[in-house]
Amino acid sequence: MSPSRFVRIVVDLDRVRANCQRVIDQTRVPVIAVVKADAYGLGAERVSRAIADRVESFCVFAPEEATSIGLWERTGREAIAIGPPTWERAEEYVAAHVRPAVCNVEQARRLKDARPLLCVDTGQQRFACPPEQVPEVLAAGGIEEAYTHAANLDQVRELVRMVGGRVRRLHAAGSSLLHEPEARLDAVRPGLALYRGAVRIATPLVEVRRGRGPAGYSGFVTPWHGVILAGYSNGLRPGPCHINGRRSRVIEVGMQSAFVEAGEADRVGDEVE
Ligand SMILES: *Cc1c(COP(=O)(O)O)cnc(C)c1O
Repeated sequence: MSPSRFVRIVVDLDRVRANCQRVIDQTRVPVIAVVKADAYGLGAERVSRAIADRVESFCVFAPEEATSIGLWERTGREAIAIGPPTWERAEEYVAAHVRPAVCNVEQARRLKDARPLLCVDTGQQRFACPPEQVPEVLAAGGIEEAYTHAANLDQVRELVRMVGGRVRRLHAAGSSLLHEPEARLDAVRPGLALYRGAVRIATPLVEVRRGRGPAGYSGFVTPWHGVILAGYSNGLRPGPCHINGRRSRVIEVGMQSAFVEAGEADRVGDEVE
């Protein structure tokens, strides 16, 4: 959801810190905190500051995401840029304390001095090095660290099979594999696990009506419905919500407004979460 004057987004940084500590306690390996896409919309600047003392480093998509918020200057932590390298020269990465992920010989050779990481393809099939090119790319970049974007344990094993013993450090696990001891390797890269439960998005009901037959574009029928001023243009989709602590749902979404299922006791001004 993007904010507007009708939508309030509250970020609980204590919760992010607690989530981070839980990952550390659970995995007992260094945490590379994924703060790409402005920390999933929570704000990379404040999120990185809040957890800098607990994490080993950060992970962004493009290197500009780190420099635009002065990540190194403010946290003293390096970043890994996992997207395709957008800077030409290794010196630019070194100056910014950002390490690029590389997946072919040309990138590895060109960015060697920036201590690149190798991204190995174990099934994701994007921005990653096919198995048969791994030895060549490792050699071209003098690479000492490799990772994969694993969705399951088989992919973790594939990474270990392909590069285990040939680099100093390996990592594979995002949030979905933190519970698997075998996936933790030498570090973990959680994103979602840091942010879970840390965002509250609220917007007030601007109308509450008793239904008079089929309503909206889709002709939905509910005893009572409410209207909010958030829609597709804010990234809203039909789905679950809460009104006055009760589970409800967003029934139909328009461009800048949406219908929610309301109850008889709900009033204009009450918040839909
Ligand atoms: C986004 C991303 C992550 C984090 O994924 P979550 O599921 O949010 O924990 C980890 N590694 C890579 C390479 C990613 O692109």
